[in-house]
Amino acid sequence: MAKRDYYEILGVPRNAGESEIKQAYRKLALKYHPDKNKGDAAAEEKFKEATEAYEVLRDPKKRASYDKYGHDGISGFDGFRGTQADFSDIFGDFDLGDIFEGFFGSSFGSRSRGRRSRRGADLQYDLMITLEEAAAGKEVQIEIPRNETCDVCGGSGSAAGSKPSVCNICSGTGQIRQTQGFFSITQTCYNCKGEGKIIKTPCKSCSGSGLRVRNRKITVKVPAGVESGSRLKITGEGEQGPNSGARGDLYVVIHVKKHKIFERHGNDILNVINLTFPMVCLGGEVEVPTITGGKAKMKIPPGTENGQVFRLKGNGIPYLGSYGRGDQLVKVNIIVPKKLKPRQKELLKEFSRLDGEDVGFNAREFY
Ligand SMILES: [Zn+2]
Ligand SMILES: [Zn+2]
Repeated sequence: MAKRDYYEILGVPRNAGESEIKQAYRKLALKYHPDKNKGDAAAEEKFKEATEAYEVLRDPKKRASYDKYGHDGISGFDGFRGTQADFSDIFGDFDLGDIFEGFFGSSFGSRSRGRRSRRGADLQYDLMITLEEAAAGKEVQIEIPRNETCDVCGGSGSAAGSKPSVCNICSGTGQIRQTQGFFSITQTCYNCKGEGKIIKTPCKSCSGSGLRVRNRKITVKVPAGVESGSRLKITGEGEQGPNSGARGDLYVVIHVKKHKIFERHGNDILNVINLTFPMVCLGGEVEVPTITGGKAKMKIPPGTENGQVFRLKGNGIPYLGSYGRGDQLVKVNIIVPKKLKPRQKELLKEFSRLDGEDVGFNAREFY
């Protein structure tokens, strides 16, 4: 079947402007929309046809190509989206809810009338803490600049002594309803941009926005067990939305500083202790620092090797939002003395001799 001319489908002249095309399509879409013509295949076909025509003629590139080469000219473009699933996309620029409100009532969701309040933006704060703080948890006070309701005008945006006047175009509803025959079309009011009011004398403090940037102190509870990259959401501590809209949220992103002696491995904590040769040979007891700032006693068994790792159960980082904690891993590093007293030398030589290693020592003076 030969394809119909797009201009013919929409019933517009070839030199029709953007708004004329949109208007024509809107009319056809209203008439043939499948929601309104349930089970009517012919209407659906007409709807798809009109949608395809509109898709091409609204796009200057596609339209130019179509004008030059006809239907062949636009075959190289992306496939058409004249399927029901994509209607919302096609209607995107003139709001499906507005168009169909006339006869579908609230089936597209009710719209709030008058001033449009919007939710404020979310904020992010980067918080640097120590590893000890990550392990113990912490309450921190941070200061963030954020939009708050202007305290001079109370958020109205009008200077003292003046009041915003009700928009005389839309009578304060923020929307204009146009009746075209059977249909009623609702659009955002061009005069007040949907606010429903006009500010004649703007508040000097906020230039009429009703919002002012304030530094606000907020207490953040950092739970034990957080790690670098953990994000804490603090609901309702973001920016104030315009026209008394809801506040956005605040996200605190945790950054943990590198520690001088402790290294974090999941919920375990690793540190290295230096032990002397006699200590690892004879064994003994040492004290090791812990992440809680205290000290833990640790037994060194006789014959401990260099690099050996001991585990101190439950001395690691707490599991975030759960019970228990990881372990502390203590790695042994045997230190070799660089300077020896004469008596120490003597004893070590003696030690070697007892081990049967005395040959050559005296002559070569290793120590
Ligand atoms: Zn103000
Ligand atoms: Zn208005």
